[in-house]
Amino acid sequence: MAPKNVAIIGSGNWGSAIARIVGRTTKANPDMYGERVNMWVFEEVVDGRNLSEIINTEHENVKYLPGKKLPENVVAVTDVVETAKDADILIFVIPHQFVTRVSKSLAGKIKPDAVALSLIKGLSTVPSDGIKLVSDEIKEILNIDVAVLMGANLAPEVANDNYCEATIGTKNKDKNGDILKTLFHTDFFRINVVADTEAVELCGALKNIVACAAGFSDGLGYGDNTKAAVIRLGMMEIVRFVNQFYPGAHLSTFFESCGLADLVTTCYGGRNRRVCEAFVKSDKPLPELEKEMLNGQSAQGPLTAEEVFDLLQKTKSLENYPLFVAVKRICKGELKPHELIDCLRTHPEYQ
Ligand code: NAD
Ligand code: 13P
Repeated sequence: MAPKNVAIIGSGNWGSAIARIVGRTTKANPDMYGERVNMWVFEEVVDGRNLSEIINTEHENVKYLPGKKLPENVVAVTDVVETAKDADILIFVIPHQFVTRVSKSLAGKIKPDAVALSLIKGLSTVPSDGIKLVSDEIKEILNIDVAVLMGANLAPEVANDNYCEATIGTKNKDKNGDILKTLFHTDFFRINVVADTEAVELCGALKNIVACAAGFSDGLGYGDNTKAAVIRLGMMEIVRFVNQFYPGAHLSTFFESCGLADLVTTCYGGRNRRVCEAFVKSDKPLPELEKEMLNGQSAQGPLTAEEVFDLLQKTKSLENYPLFVAVKRICKGELKPHELIDCLRTHPEYQ
């Protein structure tokens, strides 16, 4: 079999951390992958220079992953079609609000038998239906198979080569399982492949809402017992959501890295948690805090809470998801952060 060309669509904090892994695995497996890995950079000027030029000369994404070298076979490309046109494997890793536009710009311009892997934790919105999985959005626009990779993977820690795990969800495990796993599986980044793609993806998207609740709890100074309750009730809402809207997942999937483990790591170390803690302490609007604290990076939780709220409202399910609903209402200023606990006290999990 001819080596597969790999392209990374995105170069933010996670995109850059994953490029460090993929650059090494492609080089280490020349029989399986082409050595050059194109990485799409949404161009911007940093200290008077184009970010793409900095990446290609200094092999470092100085804005989104400063202090960590990228392998030299990872090449920054600013034209998304140029990045992707010869790729057999397309790794999508951009904030979810940009996925539709970027995918549409690739429609009809990629290899028809390419496969995609989405690392995006978020949901797409559809005015009539409420939400759509990001993987389904990419699949419908590009007409290719789309797998997902989610896990307890704070990008700065992955970029430090600290041991962690991730879960790949693919419906085509026999065909694509090995080629996708080998691209990521290293001594310090361990991969399990499962078939429950929807559950894997939804765990990744929904945990960002729970992380916001954990941030509110921290901002209010409630301590670890309260945060554990937030994590547990959040987990129960994630399971309930998957069972209601994408039924059929195995319970074991929620105990993969994409499930419980990602929920824990995000509720302690994630950007959503951090921004939401600051929201309580500073009383500044979330977009302002995101700008001040994240230097161009994005916190997906508040947006996802809003998208999920619309679906829950349409399906008359709001009362079954008090945590998700409270996060949306706090983020939108419809509730005060301290009212989170009142919403949890009467949670259906206690009935
Ligand atoms: P990020 O939060 O660093 O976002 C910034 C990126 O968005 C930059 O590359 C920027 O150039 C790009 N961008 C800005 N405006 C744009 C536009 N108009 N069009 C296209 N791109 C634009 O990104 P990230 O951390 O790489 O996150 C990408 C996805 O990966 C998200 O869904 C996130 O939830 C997920 N994820 C992140 C982490 C993490 O620790 N950072 C870990 C796992 C998963
Ligand atoms: P944040 O986006 O909240 O930083 O979470 C990153 C993540 O998904 C870790 O697995």
